[in-house]
Amino acid sequence: MSLYSHLLEPLDLGFTKARSRVLMGSMHTGLEERKGGWERQAEYFKQRAIGGVGIIVSGGIGPNEEGVGVQGGAILVNDEQVAKHQIVTKAVHEVEGALICMQILHTGRYAYNSKAVSASAVKSPIHPFPPKELDAQGIEKQIQDFVTCALLAQKAGYDGVEIMGSEGYFINQFIVKHTNKRTDEWGGSYENRIRLAKEIVRRTREAVGEKFIIIYRLSMLDLVEDGSTWDEVVYLGKEIEKCGATMINTGIGWHEARVPTIATSVPRAAFVDVTARMKKELSIPLITTNRINTPEVANAIVAEGQADMVSMARPMLADPYFVTKAAAGRGDEINTCIGCNQACLDHVFSGGEVSCLVNPYACNETILIDQPVVLKKKIAVVGAGPAGLAAATTAARRGHEVTLFDAASEIGGQFNIAKQVPGKEEFFETIRYFGKMISSTGVELKLNTRVAAKDLISAGFDEVLLATGIIPRLPELEGVDHPMVLNYLDVLKHKKPVGKRVAVMGAGGIGFDVAEYLVHGKTTPSIDKAQFMKEWGVDLKVAGAGGLIQPEVEPAAREVTLVQRKKTKVGAGLGKTTGWIHRTTLKHKNVQMINKAQYLKIDDAGLHIELDGEVKVLEVDNVIVCAGQDPQRELQAALVEAGLSVHLIGGADKAAELDAKRAIKQATELAAAI
Ligand code: FAD
Ligand code: NAP
Ligand code: SF4
Repeated sequence: MSLYSHLLEPLDLGFTKARSRVLMGSMHTGLEERKGGWERQAEYFKQRAIGGVGIIVSGGIGPNEEGVGVQGGAILVNDEQVAKHQIVTKAVHEVEGALICMQILHTGRYAYNSKAVSASAVKSPIHPFPPKELDAQGIEKQIQDFVTCALLAQKAGYDGVEIMGSEGYFINQFIVKHTNKRTDEWGGSYENRIRLAKEIVRRTREAVGEKFIIIYRLSMLDLVEDGSTWDEVVYLGKEIEKCGATMINTGIGWHEARVPTIATSVPRAAFVDVTARMKKELSIPLITTNRINTPEVANAIVAEGQADMVSMARPMLADPYFVTKAAAGRGDEINTCIGCNQACLDHVFSGGEVSCLVNPYACNETILIDQPVVLKKKIAVVGAGPAGLAAATTAARRGHEVTLFDAASEIGGQFNIAKQVPGKEEFFETIRYFGKMISSTGVELKLNTRVAAKDLISAGFDEVLLATGIIPRLPELEGVDHPMVLNYLDVLKHKKPVGKRVAVMGAGGIGFDVAEYLVHGKTTPSIDKAQFMKEWGVDLKVAGAGGLIQPEVEPAAREVTLVQRKKTKVGAGLGKTTGWIHRTTLKHKNVQMINKAQYLKIDDAGLHIELDGEVKVLEVDNVIVCAGQDPQRELQAALVEAGLSVHLIGGADKAAELDAKRAIKQATELAAAI
C-alpha cells in the first residue's frame, strides 16, 4: 500500500471522478493577460495534469469588467474569449482523467478599478477606490453575469467552476455586516446578506445542469471585525449545499486581515481544524487549504477525515509532479514550497508574472527547457549554496559530468543559516530536495573541500561555475573591532552568546531575521500552532464574530533596537506580501526601529549614533552587524588567466540585493544553456 494512499484515492463526485484528493488551488499567474499567455498557461496546467492533480482550478477570471482586480484583467464574457480558454482546456484534457475548473472571481471593492462595485460604498483599507453601491438592478446584473460566465466556461470545455465567495471579495462583502450596510432585501439580516451567494449558486446550477462541478469557496474564518460567527458560517454552508454546489472549498481570512494566513511563518495546516469542524455539518465533499505543502501532511488530513480534498496552490508551482512523485513513493523528491511568496504572490502584487523561487520553470514551461546535451562537458561547480545546487543538478540532469565542491561539511550555503530563523524552518526543505537531486542526477559531491584555483586548472574542466557566495560586510567605523560587536554569522551560525540589550546595525532582510531570532523564546509560533493563534489573536472555534480575539504575545527574550541609515520606513524593502508580517511581529515584541541614523562609533557604552542632529548612545551589550554583503570571487582572476571558461552565479556574481530567487533562476538558466 502507498504511503499516501488516502491522498491518492479517487474522489467520486457522482457524475465524474477526481483522480486524487489533491486540488490545485486557484492562482492568478499574470499570464492570463499576457501576449501568448494562453499557450503558456496551457503547458503550465498540462504539466500539473500530467503530475496527477485531481482537480485543477484556474486563476480567477472576472464575470464582467467591474469585477476584475485591475483594469484590463481577464474576463470571460464572449465567444472570442471562450476560444482562448479552449487552448487551456484542450491541453489539460489530453491527459486522461484530468479535470479543470475555472474560478469566477469578482473582486468587488478589492478592484484597483474606478468601476468597482460592492454591497455598500465602504472603501477597503488596502485599496484606493471607494466602490459604488449597487442598486437592486445592478445586483441582478452581477448575478446574471456570474451565470453567463459559468455557461461560457462550460462552453470552453471546463469541467466546472469555482465561485469565489471568500477572502473578502464581492460575495463575501455582501455576507458581512462590516461591508454590507444595506437595508433592502440584500442587507440587514443574515438571511438577506447571504441571498447573493445563494442566488448565484442556485441560478448557476439551474443554468449549467447537473453534470458540471460547482465548487463554492466559503469564508469559514473571516479574521476581520464584524465577520461571520461560526453559526452563520455553518448555516451558509448548509444553504449553499441546498443550492446545488458540488463541493465547498475553505476560505481563510480576508485580504485586509491583519493575521498571516499563508506566509512561511504560518504553521503547516494551521487552519485545518476549521474545515474539520465544518465536515460534521455538511454532506457534500469539503476541501481544506492554507500552508499544506507535503504529502505527509495532506495525506494525514484526508486519513483523519478532516477534509475530503486538500487544496495546494503554491506547492503545485514548486513541483508540478507532486502527486505522481508521491504515488511512486518518491515523496522525498518533491520540490517543496517554502511559503516565501517571493516569486509568486509578491509578483502578482507588483503586476509581474508568477514563477517560483525554488522552481524557475514554473509558468515558463515553454521558455525555460532542459534539452539533453549534445556535447557532454566536464563541469566544476564551486559552492553548494542555492546557486551552485541549482546549476549542478540542472547541468547533470541534462547529461553533463558535474563535480560540485563546497568547503563546508554540508550542502545549502546560506540556507543553512536562514533555516535557523524562527518562521524560516521550511528553508530546510530546499536543501533536502537538492540533496536528493544530487544523487538522482549523478552529481559528484565533494564536501569539506575548499577549492583553490590550481586544483581546478589542473583537473581539466571545460567549464567552471563559481557559486562561492558572499562575504558579510564589515563597515568602517571606530570601534567595529570591539568585543561587543558580532556579525549575523556569529549569532545564527556560531551561536555566540548575546546579551539582553542589543542593537542590530542594518535593517535589511537579515537584520530583521536576526532581530526575530533574538526576541523569540524557546518555542516559536511557526512551529507551535497554539502559540501562533494566541500571538495573532485567532480563535479557531470562531466563538465571536470573524474569529478574532485579543492577541497575547509572549514577552520578548531581549530588548532589541533595529537601526538603518536610510530615511525610508524601516522594513520598507522587505517582501510585498510578507514585510508587514515581519514589521508587526517585531512591533509586538517591542523592537525599537530607528531610521535616518548616522553611525559614529562603538565603545563600552554602546552604539553611538547621530539622529536628527543629536548624538544618542544606544546602551547595549552587543552590536550585531547586518550591513549587507560583498561578492566572494577570489578564484576568478587566476582561472580566467589560465584560460578557463568561468561563470559567476548567485552572490559571487552580484551580492547587492541578492536573494535566493535571483540566485536559483540565474544558475538554472545558465545550466540549461551551457
Ligand atoms: P551561498 O548560499 O552563500 O553559498 C556559497 C557556498 O560556497 C557556501 O556553501 C560556501 O561554503 C561555498 N564556498 C565559498 N568559497 C568556496 C571555495 N573556495 N571552495 C568551496 N566552497 C566554497 N534569500 C531569500 O531569497 N529569501 C530569504 O528569506 C532569505 N533569508 C535569508 C536569511 C538569512 C539569515 C541569510 C543569511 C540569508 C537569507 N537569504 C534569503 C539569502 C540567500 O540565502 C542567499 O541569497 C543565497 O544563499 C545565495 O546563494 P549562493 O549560492 O549565491 O551563495
Ligand atoms: P540588504 O537587504 O541589502 O540590507 C543591508 C542593510 O545594511 C541595509 O539595511 C543597509 O541599510 C545596511 N548597510 C549597507 N551598507 C552599510 C554600511 N556600509 N554600513 C552600515 N550599514 C550598511 O542585505 P541583507 O539584510 O544582508 O540581506 C541579504 C539579502 O538576503 C537581501 O538582499 C535579501 O534579498 C535576502 N534576504 C531576504 C529575506 C526575505 O525575507 N525575503 C530575508 C533575509 C535576507 P542602510 O544603508 O540604510 O543603513
Ligand atoms: Fe512557494 Fe516561494 Fe515558490 Fe511561491 S515562490 S510557490 S511561496 S516556494
